Amino acid sequence: MKEILQSYPAYRRRQAEEAVFQRLIEDWDEATNLPLDLRQKLKSACPLGVKAEVLASARGDSAKAAIELSDGAVIETVLMRHQSGRNTICLSSQVGCPGACAFCATGQMGFVRQLTAEEIVAQILFFSRLLKKEGGRISSAVFMGMGEPLLNYREVMLAVDCLNDRNKFNIGARHISLSTIGIPVGIERLSREKKQINLAFSLHAPDDALRGRLIPLARQHPLREILAALKNYIDATGRRVMVEYVLLDGVNDSPPAARDLARLLRQSLERLFFVNLISFNPTLRYRPTTPQKMKIFQSTLEREGIAVTCRYRFGEDIDGACGQLAGRKKP
Ligand code: SAH
Repeated sequence: MKEILQSYPAYRRRQAEEAVFQRLIEDWDEATNLPLDLRQKLKSACPLGVKAEVLASARGDSAKAAIELSDGAVIETVLMRHQSGRNTICLSSQVGCPGACAFCATGQMGFVRQLTAEEIVAQILFFSRLLKKEGGRISSAVFMGMGEPLLNYREVMLAVDCLNDRNKFNIGARHISLSTIGIPVGIERLSREKKQINLAFSLHAPDDALRGRLIPLARQHPLREILAALKNYIDATGRRVMVEYVLLDGVNDSPPAARDLARLLRQSLERLFFVNLISFNPTLRYRPTTPQKMKIFQSTLEREGIAVTCRYRFGEDIDGACGQLAGRKKP
């Protein structure tokens, strides 16, 4: 878009961006304020259509889109509708994922390729257009779909800027979150950005041995290094980090695991963090923990002085967890 618009007066770019990001047009023909020759050029160089199949949950609180990219790769985007009226979009940052998490459907697909910033933005455009038809908008975004966002740093940050831009999606940085298995150089880079986005760390185990079994890519990054990078991030930004912990039955959900977790976090992060317990959306060979064990795990952490929240479960009936749908669609 930028390239084509270079040879036109500056206000044409503003008009084109306004049409795409605010009016959310789906075809350049709708941008009738632009001259016909420009519309035609934009139509062939940057088509606005997004090819997707939508699956809505029976409860109506979430919808998942399987988006087909120009090379035929399929990625997933989930929309979560909160009772408060807020809408959160869960974005993919890569096709497949190198994390290889043993419990995660995307992890089992392996890594296919990076997404471009445009392909990340297409996910946002898709659900923004859908919501606009009912008078709604996206109010927050999380990079918790397929892929490891810190391993596609540049494109993810370009997409964050677009989300954040007042003239584009206008979503406050504090309503944008990025979740990572913990790539120390990526965390350090993020500490130097002047962005107020939230950082979430997928820990899932209180020690390297169990963590390495659950998250094979984490074997390259010992917890000591990741937690040191997170501590620097907290000190540099003054922002609170969310530590994610998915409770797997009989794997990482015992009271001793909770105590080890509390000790590890208190010692290495000291302040400005909280634990978010995630109920597992069943895939593969793992089972979710029981509600009783989850309660005990939570209260054990709380007794150790750790702040804990529990993640509400969305979209179980649409295989809402990371990669479940695209994985199934693969030939
Ligand atoms: N690669 C990044 C972001 C994508 S996954 C990361 O790992 O943080 C986002 C979160 O969903 C991670 O915490 C991941 O462990 C979790 N997750 C993956 N599969 C899940 C499932 N089936 N049920 C619940 N959480 C899952």
